[in-house]
Amino acid sequence: MIEEAIRNNIAEIRERIAGAATRAGRQVSEIRLMAVTKKVQESRIGQALEAGIDLCGENYIQEGKTKIEAIGHPPQWHMIGHLQTNKAKYAVRLFDMVQSVDRLELAIELERRARAAGRVLPVLIEVNSGGELTKSGVAPEEAESLIRSIALLENIAIEGLMTMPPWFENPETARPYFAALRTLRDRIAAERIDRVSLRELSMGMTDDYEVAIEEGATIVRIGRGIFGERKP
Ligand SMILES: *Cc1c(COP(=O)(O)O)cnc(C)c1O
Repeated sequence: MIEEAIRNNIAEIRERIAGAATRAGRQVSEIRLMAVTKKVQESRIGQALEAGIDLCGENYIQEGKTKIEAIGHPPQWHMIGHLQTNKAKYAVRLFDMVQSVDRLELAIELERRARAAGRVLPVLIEVNSGGELTKSGVAPEEAESLIRSIALLENIAIEGLMTMPPWFENPETARPYFAALRTLRDRIAAERIDRVSLRELSMGMTDDYEVAIEEGATIVRIGRGIFGERKP
């Protein structure tokens, strides 16, 4: 029964993704669906994988470690939660990408650990688009200088921007934040900074992913919409 629910949820989300892409004149293949698996049991994650999910997001190193070691790769695993600098080595060991890079100190430590592991770590720069004190992310006006500094680190590859705007009852209210992230991306991309690609825009969650896609999202991060409400 649960299995059916997860499968049906994913099918419905894929339809809605296609609808939003069509409205925006975009190809549906430009948009990746991430299953956000925080607080979700491994057996239920397995059901999502059977239903075709190939990208998962985790918020915490310790919780992610248990699941990633049990489930393995594929799927791809992205770190999407606030990352403490002293956990960088685990992030490099476990994750295919870190979407939550928001300060140089963290990037330098990720670089050091990636170099030791002989890999180049793909990252997104997390932007605090709503300027909320409770959220991590670099301020929009500081994003370019952070990107210029991180671009010099050879074992880090910047691939785009990520954001988590304020939550609103009405998803339309989030639209200006998504549009602002795209505009910021376009402006920084126009600078053609060496080694920096900004093709990815990771934005949009269960309540607002269709709006995010209309505004250019390439990765939508969905938890409750796939797995149901999380236990508090
Ligand atoms: C929890 C979380 C999500 C998913 O949120 P839902 O509302 O469950 O879709 C997406 N991104 C981040 C960074 C999260 O922490």
